[in-house]
Amino acid sequence: MNADLVVVGSGFFGLTIAERAATELGLKVAVLDRRHHIGGNAYSENEEKTGIEVHRYGAHLFHTSNERVWEYVNRFTKFTNYQHKVYTSHKGEVYPMPINLGTINQFFRAAMSPSEARQLIAEQAGELAGTDPQNLNDKGIQLIGRPLYEAFIKHYTGKQWQTDPKDLPAEIISRLPVRYNYDNRYFNDAHEGLPVDGYTAWIERMADNPNIEVVLNTDFFDDGEFGRSSVLGQVPVIYTGPVDRYFDYAEGDLSWRTIDLEEEVLPIEDFQGCPVMNYPDPETAFTRIHEFRHFHPERDYTKDATVIMREFSRFAEKGDEPYYPVNTSDDRSKLLAYRDLARGEKSVLFGGRLGTYKYLDMHMAIGSALSMFDNKIKPHFTGGAKLESGGVDA
Ligand code: FAD
Ligand code: UDP
Repeated sequence: MNADLVVVGSGFFGLTIAERAATELGLKVAVLDRRHHIGGNAYSENEEKTGIEVHRYGAHLFHTSNERVWEYVNRFTKFTNYQHKVYTSHKGEVYPMPINLGTINQFFRAAMSPSEARQLIAEQAGELAGTDPQNLNDKGIQLIGRPLYEAFIKHYTGKQWQTDPKDLPAEIISRLPVRYNYDNRYFNDAHEGLPVDGYTAWIERMADNPNIEVVLNTDFFDDGEFGRSSVLGQVPVIYTGPVDRYFDYAEGDLSWRTIDLEEEVLPIEDFQGCPVMNYPDPETAFTRIHEFRHFHPERDYTKDATVIMREFSRFAEKGDEPYYPVNTSDDRSKLLAYRDLARGEKSVLFGGRLGTYKYLDMHMAIGSALSMFDNKIKPHFTGGAKLESGGVDA
């Protein structure tokens, strides 16, 4: 092995560390991934028959208000002016999502002003007035009142998480804005867009450095040149795989949600007229349908076919891709135990979504990797500072 640093996982967290270490410090970096490609869950490819770019692990929308991250990502790709907008199909009627004045007025068959709608929702959320809800159920009712919660959130969340919303943390629902105007943009961030020539071109440019060696189809826990037993103690390791896997599940399995995506190519130009349609009713097994052509209206895609993906959600079993941390109170106590174990590991830093057991959007993963580079990796390689994990670094 001819490397100064080994990065386990080539998602945005690992690639950002590798790119910075290789470019700014001139280090030789080996980036391992057990998959056949780099880019982690942001990986995309063009569907064979239609040439339409599909995001292989679920739709990925880039958005950030972090100026440092925005400047950094623009070194590798330009972005389109795409703005994400979602619709939701409830009891045979389509509403704008996230919940805004359009959703509220359509749902109540009304023409309320912003202040009238606020007053109505405050009345409907009255049962939780003055409380500080910590779980998704109560937080949801407090935000939008019980009728809207039961129509658009309760069953969707149930299908997505298969966990009682009372056992889910409130912050999951706090990600969704609620607006008392007709703005139905999904995100509030200052910058938003999709990579002009696709995610994979962006990702490949990050790894395009003679100091970076990409080692695919290689699991850190297998034997071999880049396996754990060969690498640990030889060079520092940045580990972005699941934290419980690293410690051989010593403190128990953390629970994850995975998704199954059913792809279909249809011989029509447009299936649903928008990129994402949610299905919040319990009778429909899938949670949403993605139609990928709509992510790039600026591209000259075929008019003879379209690609859709139905998204189903379930608990991850061993062997499934762990996608979203479920983060019940039981998980949180296991995570504290894993953080203690991580603190004891010499010259191994844990990062990224899987390594910290935190839901991280792409800009958050990139931002936290830039911080880890500044605060730990650079001081270690330039000034000899000890490479110590604060437990699990987010
Ligand atoms: P990952 O992308 O998960 O990369 C980790 C890599 O480590 C993987 O490639 C994996 O194969 C590899 N690995 C794991 N274990 C090992 C091992 N033992 N040996 C070798 N390699 C290993 N973010 C947004 O900003 N917008 C979105 O719209 C969005 N949508 C998402 C939808 C889904 C379904 C999911 C799951 C995530 C979404 N995200 C979105 C989050 C985004 O994917 C992550 O923020 C980003 O990928 C973070 O990257 P990461 O490097 O932490 O992890
Ligand atoms: N959510 C919902 N109904 C919707 C959209 C979202 O109940 O139509 C809830 C659900 O609990 C989800 C959370 O809001 O997990 C956050 O939504 P987001 O779209 O950010 O979820 P993701 O894209 O990460 O799956």
